[in-house]
Amino acid sequence: MGEGKPIPKDVPKNVKCTIELPALEIFVRSAFYHADNGECFSPGEGITGATFELDGKPFGPKTSYYGANGRVSSGVAMKVTVAAGAPASKEVGWAKLPLTGVADGDHVLKVIPPPSQASTAAADSSLKDGAKRMWRPLHIKMTLKEGKLAAAATCDPDDAKKKINHGSVGAFDETSLAIDMKPDWIRSEYGPRSRGKSASLIVLHHTGKKLIGSSLHEAINAKGPHYEIDIDGHVVKLVEDTKIASHAGTSKWGSETGCNALSVGIEIVNENADDITEAQYGSLIALLKGLVKDLGIKSHRIIGHADCRTHDKPKDTELLSSDRADCPGYKFDWARLEKEALGMVPKVGVTLGAEDWGG
Ligand SMILES: [Zn+2]
Repeated sequence: MGEGKPIPKDVPKNVKCTIELPALEIFVRSAFYHADNGECFSPGEGITGATFELDGKPFGPKTSYYGANGRVSSGVAMKVTVAAGAPASKEVGWAKLPLTGVADGDHVLKVIPPPSQASTAAADSSLKDGAKRMWRPLHIKMTLKEGKLAAAATCDPDDAKKKINHGSVGAFDETSLAIDMKPDWIRSEYGPRSRGKSASLIVLHHTGKKLIGSSLHEAINAKGPHYEIDIDGHVVKLVEDTKIASHAGTSKWGSETGCNALSVGIEIVNENADDITEAQYGSLIALLKGLVKDLGIKSHRIIGHADCRTHDKPKDTELLSSDRADCPGYKFDWARLEKEALGMVPKVGVTLGAEDWGG
């Protein structure tokens, strides 16, 4: 004994060291996840720069933590730097939230997108292109038990009964949480063109697919509408209303050909038009009312793609496409829209002639 190093006389007053404290690993990603099928849009597309609040207070900057009584031994004050510092999601969406001092029980975690990518409400005509993606803040109710995560689900902080459709808890275990944020805005990379005059027509479609993912990829990279309405009623916007999107193909309405230049296009995600959900009709009607009001479109000028689509062959350009009944579908509830003074339903017993459509 006694062979150990002597304690130096000039022990520093503040010894800085780093230790790992209890923490929650979080993965924030841009995704469209549905519990029934697990589909994700661009799995792995992490959101960088998101920040967090717990029970209404910002996490961090939480850079220092003093040991018991502020001193440990021999007059050395111990200063611990929490490894996570001020938490924000990094380049692939990961963040680490220190849970030191967070009591067991229920808490509300708020995930806040970076300010330049934050939207404030569901997509409508007022949402403008400001970033490649935009999301709304998302609230997660989580329960801690013995310092570990025991439950997690999205919530509306103002109304516990209200369902959230702009995000979900993708998965969690006792030390990690995956949070899927559904964008309100995804910029189409297809290159929308400017309009010479404002839109005067709205064209409704259905995707013909059960899930939103593949049609979104097509809308971003090839052709697509201004808006898509997911099966839970969430609306994502891809092109500003003042620009021309590519959704109507070869088409004619009234005396005008080329309906893309005239119209705002809306795709409703569903395989068959008879399974459009209540949530989708609700969001569609709200979106249409806003577009009619904000863009000054006459409320009867809301039509189906079937009403204006013509064949691609030059000799058929004046004829409706033979598959016209399929978009937005045979069973689309036009009467429901008409009750809201949107669009029109032909009168029963009136036979439309070949010259009547689009007149
Ligand atoms: Zn269509």
